[in-house]
Amino acid sequence: MIGILCAMREELEPILKEVEIKEVIDYAKNKFYLAEFNGKSLVLAYSKIGKVNASLTATIMIEKFKAKKILFSGVAGAIDKDLRIGDLIIATKTVQHDIDLTVFGYEPGFIPESKVYFECDEELNRLARNVAKKLDIKLKEGIIASGDQFIHSKERKNWIKETFNASAIEMEGGAVGCVTSTLDVPFFMLRSISDTAEEGAGVDFDEFLEESSKVSAKFLIEMLKKM
Ligand code: SAH
Repeated sequence: MIGILCAMREELEPILKEVEIKEVIDYAKNKFYLAEFNGKSLVLAYSKIGKVNASLTATIMIEKFKAKKILFSGVAGAIDKDLRIGDLIIATKTVQHDIDLTVFGYEPGFIPESKVYFECDEELNRLARNVAKKLDIKLKEGIIASGDQFIHSKERKNWIKETFNASAIEMEGGAVGCVTSTLDVPFFMLRSISDTAEEGAGVDFDEFLEESSKVSAKFLIEMLKKM
């Protein structure tokens, strides 16, 4: 069973259109779609926005639906200068930028007995690189930072870039990374850029959410064909 996770309805819908839905299960005030694609069993859901919702849904996919891998598809704000709206990025690692226990001498993002960065699965990242190469699609990779805030300021964006060396920003990946790493489940994080995470990002986001979601969904489907 492969778990396909998104945060928002707009991110999941273009994926649902491509798979053969077998059953829809109502659970935890959400819908989990059991589907087939390319001979593989999938469980798909959108968690709703934010780290808590994403953690809950990832955990349910793993514990209840026995997902052996979690693949995330969605949109993100750009941090790296060469990322344009619609570009694709995969995470090498994810991090929670809003964890702050620095007053106790810990580095930003660190929780005692846990860690700052959660590694994404190298095998899935390698597959993504191969798919991108075959289809001649530009695919960036880097650290993706998450927090329960929509970032729309140059100042905050630059702080996240400098503190975590992050390339893109969103609101779920760091939490899913924490869950999957704790439960030893391979995790793949794919995002298409929807905005610049600077002033005006909210307007860009609303304009490009649908289009960028489709870019990410399309790439994920191409990957599933090769799995
Ligand atoms: N307009 C939406 C809310 C979007 S929140 C509504 O009204 O429902 C932004 C979502 O896209 C989150 O799921 C997050 O993961 C991602 N995202 C895209 N750009 C972002 C940014 N600049 N900062 C934080 N998250 C961003």
